[in-house]
Amino acid sequence: MVRGRTRGLILGFSALLVISWTGFMIRTNRHRAAVSYIQEALELKVLQILYPNHHYTKENYTEFRIIPEKNLSDFRQYGELAGMGDDYPLENATFFTLVRNQELYSLLQSIEYVESRFNWRYHYPWVFANDEEFDENFKLEVSHLVSGEATFVTIPKEMWSYPPHIDQKKALETRERMEKHGIIYGGSESYRFMCRFNSGFFYKLDALAKYKYYWRVEPDIKFNCDLDFDYFKHMRENKLKYGFTMTLHELPATVDGLFSETKKFFRDLHPEYINENNQIEFISQDNEESFNMCHYWSNFELGDLDWLRSKEYNDYFNHLEESGGFFYERWGDAPVHTLAVSYMLDQKEVFYFDNTGYYHVPNSQCPRDGEKRIELRCTCELSKDFNWGSFESCLPYWYETRDEPRPWWAP
Ligand code: GDP
Ligand code: MN
Repeated sequence: MVRGRTRGLILGFSALLVISWTGFMIRTNRHRAAVSYIQEALELKVLQILYPNHHYTKENYTEFRIIPEKNLSDFRQYGELAGMGDDYPLENATFFTLVRNQELYSLLQSIEYVESRFNWRYHYPWVFANDEEFDENFKLEVSHLVSGEATFVTIPKEMWSYPPHIDQKKALETRERMEKHGIIYGGSESYRFMCRFNSGFFYKLDALAKYKYYWRVEPDIKFNCDLDFDYFKHMRENKLKYGFTMTLHELPATVDGLFSETKKFFRDLHPEYINENNQIEFISQDNEESFNMCHYWSNFELGDLDWLRSKEYNDYFNHLEESGGFFYERWGDAPVHTLAVSYMLDQKEVFYFDNTGYYHVPNSQCPRDGEKRIELRCTCELSKDFNWGSFESCLPYWYETRDEPRPWWAP
C-alpha cells in the first residue's frame, strides 16, 4: 500500500519534472534537437496507440510518415480490372536497378512510370542493388510502390572495389588528369566502380541467379508512352539477347584504349567468339581501324542473363579487367556491352524497342508514327525525338548496318 503510493508519487514527480524541463527548454530555445527528439518519440507513441495497424518511419528528426498497411490490390483497382490476372504465365524475368539511398525519390518516380505504363498488367519482380546497405525507409517506400516482389541486395565488396592488380596511384592520377580536362565523371572513383560493376558483375549477383532476362531501370527516367506488350515475352519468343531503345555517340576521351583491347581479344585471342552474322559494322566504319563511338544507351536495356553469364562474355570482361581500363581510363558499361553485342551476337538477337517514349536526361524518344502516339497515350513531344531527330543519334546508321529496311516512317 505504502510502497504503491510512494511509487506513484515518484512517478508523478518525475513526469512533472520532465514536462517542466521540456517546457523550459522550449521557452529558452536551447537544446532544440533534444527537445524535438522527445516530442517526436511521444508523438510516435501516440500514433502507435491510435493507429496500431500502420507503419511508421522516421524520415528525419522532424517528420513522421504514415504508410497504411494495405494490400496492393486496394490501391491498384485498375490493374485488377485490366491486368493480365493471376494465371498469366510470367517470363523468368526481373527489373534490375542499381541505386543509392539518396536517390529514393528519383527512383520512386521511375518506378511509377514503369508501373503505370507497363508493369501494372504483369507485376514482374524487381531487384534493387546498392554498394551500401539500403535504409529501412527506402525499402519500405519502394516495396509499397512496386506491384511485384521487391528484393534488396547489398553488393559484395569484391564487385565494388579495385581488383588486386590495379595500381591505385595510377588510377588516382588518371582521375586527376581527367578532372582537370573537364571530362564528365572523370574525377569520380565511384562512377568507375559503377561502370565496372555494370560491365562484369551485376549478372553474377545471387539475387539474379534464377532469372533469364533482366530489364535495367535507372532513377529519374520516364516512359512517356504505354508499353503495350510484354517486352520479356518478346525477348524469349524472338530468341533475343539484347534490347535497347536509344543509341548515341560516346565521349571519345573516356574510351581511348577500349577498342584496341576489344579487337585484340576478338581478333587475336578468340576469333571463334565472333558471330558469323555479327554487327561489327555498327561500331566501326573503317574495317575495325577505329571505334565510331556508337553505343547502346545502357540506362535502358533488356538482356539475356545466360549470355552475360556465359564463358565467352566473361572471358571478354576479364580481358578488359586485366587491361585496367576501367580505372586507368573511364570505360563505360554501355560501350562495353555494345562492343560485346556487336562482336558476339547475331544481328537477329539484337532488338530495337521503338515507341517507348523513353527519357533519360538529356534525351527523349518519341514515336514518329502519329497513330502510335495516340494509341499508346504518349505524352512526349515529337519535335524533341532524339532517335531520328538528332545528329548524335546512331539509330539511322544502325538500320543501315542491318539486313532489314528502315521503318516506313523514318525521315
Ligand atoms: P549517368 O546515367 O551516366 O549519368 O550515371 P548515373 O549517375 O545515372 O548512374 C548510373 C546508375 O548507377 C544509376 O542507376 C545510379 O543510381 C547508379 N549509381 C551510380 N553511382 C552509384 C553509387 O556510387 N552507388 C550506387 N549504389 N549506385 C550508383
Ligand atoms: Mn543515369
